[in-house]
Amino acid sequence: MSRPIAIIVAAGQGSRIGGETPKQFRTLLGRRVIEWSLGAFRTHPSKPVIVVVVPQGTAGQHHDLAAKCDYLVEGGQTRSGSVAAGLAAVEATDETPVLIHDAARPGLSQAMISRLLEALDEADAGAPALMVPDALKDVSGPQFQTVDRAPLRRMQTPQVFRYGDIRAAIGAGAEDYVDDLEAVEALGRRVKLVAGEARLGKITYEEDFEMIASLMTGANMLPRMGSGYDVHRFGEGDHVTLCGVRIPHTHGLIGHSDADIGWHALTDAILGAAAMGDIGDHFPPTDPQWEGADSGVFLAHAAKLALEAGFRVSSVDITLICEAPKIKPHREAMRKRTADLLGLELGQVSVKATTTEGLGFEGRRDGMAGQAVAVLVPLAKLD
Ligand code: MG
Repeated sequence: MSRPIAIIVAAGQGSRIGGETPKQFRTLLGRRVIEWSLGAFRTHPSKPVIVVVVPQGTAGQHHDLAAKCDYLVEGGQTRSGSVAAGLAAVEATDETPVLIHDAARPGLSQAMISRLLEALDEADAGAPALMVPDALKDVSGPQFQTVDRAPLRRMQTPQVFRYGDIRAAIGAGAEDYVDDLEAVEALGRRVKLVAGEARLGKITYEEDFEMIASLMTGANMLPRMGSGYDVHRFGEGDHVTLCGVRIPHTHGLIGHSDADIGWHALTDAILGAAAMGDIGDHFPPTDPQWEGADSGVFLAHAAKLALEAGFRVSSVDITLICEAPKIKPHREAMRKRTADLLGLELGQVSVKATTTEGLGFEGRRDGMAGQAVAVLVPLAKLD
């Protein structure tokens, strides 16, 4: 089966909220609203071809988004115009599934994408829909009329179509539709509704940010744990750098960077918890730009990568293994440096030390070892 196409429409100017930044580019749970659905599509096993549609005249401001999608295009004056621009960016067969999604709905899960793609096995189009729990009134006349809510549904996105249908329905985007389904319904296509989700709600008003964030953050989220280990050899020098703290010593630690075993182990622990490889993958020792580098750069980068993947560091525990120098007098400074760099409270950062009773390379004072454990918690539960 060919890869589906995912079009994320982020072309709205957000006039209903006002303010400078349109809502899809504001921050929610540590990342921009649009990046939540972008992340859901990017990591879906169907590997969709991703098209992001940004407001007119703003493509030049979105190089970071362009790097995370296959096509970044500017939208039109209307929603249909923006969808048409997204469709025009890709070439596909008529049968190719196309998911069209509002960037302002960040609570998109992998399961929802899968359900929608499966809907095309039974119908020509699919969309998530919710029942209407509240009483509905028609208040247009002097006497209110209660509307029967039983046959009504609240529609969400993504909505899924076949490329040929949606291309024919939206055309050049000249006619504006409330949603993409309306355009395809006009062609007489069969639509399958799948169960919508409250957290897939659209951010329209200011108060929606908090509500959607709380819906995206479940109580049963599972934390992730990672461990790291690092060794460097003693050589000539008059100090070592451990957890960002310079400590005078009879020897130095030899390494490509500043050889900070504490922060190297911790960087690996964070990358490990996020299942994002190891320090060598991200900072190859063969790369001259890392020569003599402050290991704080590595640690901060690992924390940022984890954040982009939807996790924040919640606690860390570092163990330094050596006979000398004495760690204890510097331990509080190491905790403080580490906490400051990661934006944690002191109570979330532990630094410990041990000797090996004279055994092994640490005991012979050939080098030092560092071990670390990091616990990451998800910013949001998405499946
Ligand atoms: Mg190292």
